[in-house]
Amino acid sequence: MHQLTLAEIARGLADKKFSAEELTRTLLARIAQLDPQINSFISLTEELALQQAKAADVRRASGENGALLGAPIGHKDLFCTQGVRTSCGSKMLDNFKAPYDATVVAKLAAAGAVTLGKTNMDEFAMGSANESSYYGKVRNPWNLEHVPGGSSGGSAAAVAARLLPAATATDTGGSIRQPAAFTNLTGLKPTYGRVSRWGMIAYASSLDQGGPLARTAEDCALLLQGMAGFDPQDSTSIDEPVPDYSAGLNDSIQGLRIGVPKEYFSAGLDPRIAERVHDSVKELEKLGAVIKEISLPNNQHAIPAYYVIAPAEASSNLSRFDGVRFGYRCEEPKDLEDLYKRSRGEGFGAEVQRRIMVGAYALSAGYYDAYYLKAQKIRRLIKNDFMSAFNEVDVILGPTTPNPAWKIGAKNNDPVAEYLEDFYTITANLAGLPGLSMPAGFVDGLPVGVQLLAPYFQEGRLLNVAHQYQLNTDWHTRTPQGF
Ligand code: GLN
Repeated sequence: MHQLTLAEIARGLADKKFSAEELTRTLLARIAQLDPQINSFISLTEELALQQAKAADVRRASGENGALLGAPIGHKDLFCTQGVRTSCGSKMLDNFKAPYDATVVAKLAAAGAVTLGKTNMDEFAMGSANESSYYGKVRNPWNLEHVPGGSSGGSAAAVAARLLPAATATDTGGSIRQPAAFTNLTGLKPTYGRVSRWGMIAYASSLDQGGPLARTAEDCALLLQGMAGFDPQDSTSIDEPVPDYSAGLNDSIQGLRIGVPKEYFSAGLDPRIAERVHDSVKELEKLGAVIKEISLPNNQHAIPAYYVIAPAEASSNLSRFDGVRFGYRCEEPKDLEDLYKRSRGEGFGAEVQRRIMVGAYALSAGYYDAYYLKAQKIRRLIKNDFMSAFNEVDVILGPTTPNPAWKIGAKNNDPVAEYLEDFYTITANLAGLPGLSMPAGFVDGLPVGVQLLAPYFQEGRLLNVAHQYQLNTDWHTRTPQGF
């Protein structure tokens, strides 16, 4: 049963081949048996899961038939879940039980999804390796000595190891697409404003966006359907109708114009990944797509701009965790200043502290113009590049990551080396565009992802292209050994 996709689970439940309760018990047992190897969960919610599964079975018995009714999922541990620890991977929130549900959590629960647990993540979603969690690093099911990607590494590892068919995740600079690439999954970062951020603990508010991680584009469509929509409680949520994401999956891609940016094939790209990308281009050409070389001239400025803007917003967002209003409080403070200093010094890990310092520096008087304002200008140039490219093409294709998953610990002493791994993903966040990563082969037994980008609100187009690709390739069906 653990091999079933969300779409297959929906059919199995509708045909009464198994109940949601049976499925939930099977997966909970599998998690207990296998998760110690990969550490993909921070908290399990067995009681809640069984209660939701039984309720889903009752709803099905009375004739309801939604695609997510009885579907087991996990939530990245930054989505507030009422009565359940919501830690954001940090000691700072180790004892925080959310008093309410995030909109995403509430919407999926209403659709009948069953929450098995909260998944591990880089502390405050900062990272590309899932090594910075207070709850320990996550391992990649494809090779336990390698990282699963981050920051949604727990969601990715759990789905890749077949502990869950799908999970929620968030993407500020690549944290859905990059772990999807590293673990042979399909992951979609929606258009900024498509999925509500209410109840999603903020990292960088102008970049953060929730989305689905699953094995197939078909499953991403189902999960996104349950997550997307206008939310008056999020002032950046956009009031656009939500299309039926499954309806267009089978559309032909004959004549679809795919742009391949020449800047993507620079020195930093592993040539073996470049080959996999070219293979995927050939495959899509066979399906009728028309390939065109394009240019994104400001692409190379994205990493420096992002690593000013994201820390700047983080330093502001994380100021609320001071041991008084929110978060961990140190033992026996001498005075108020000692309380602030030690609560934040003991509650936040090293990478989070580094980002807060960089961000506070970039925002300080005297440096604001030189760093923050300049980064915002670059952000506009990057957006403009995409706007002109989308005058010529329907979709942009490239690698998701320059390298396959690296060995655990390999980049621990060099944060900038890890930042550079975000080269292909962060531009979509800076521009607010939707992006998807899909499995496209292997290098040394480690998965490789291909990224597709589309104009605003064209999530359906990304899912359509990925689904057509998946109907004609079998990379996404491969299972890691031992799972
Ligand atoms: N790796 C990027 C960072 O560390 C992106 C993280 C994310 O998307 N949450 O900021």
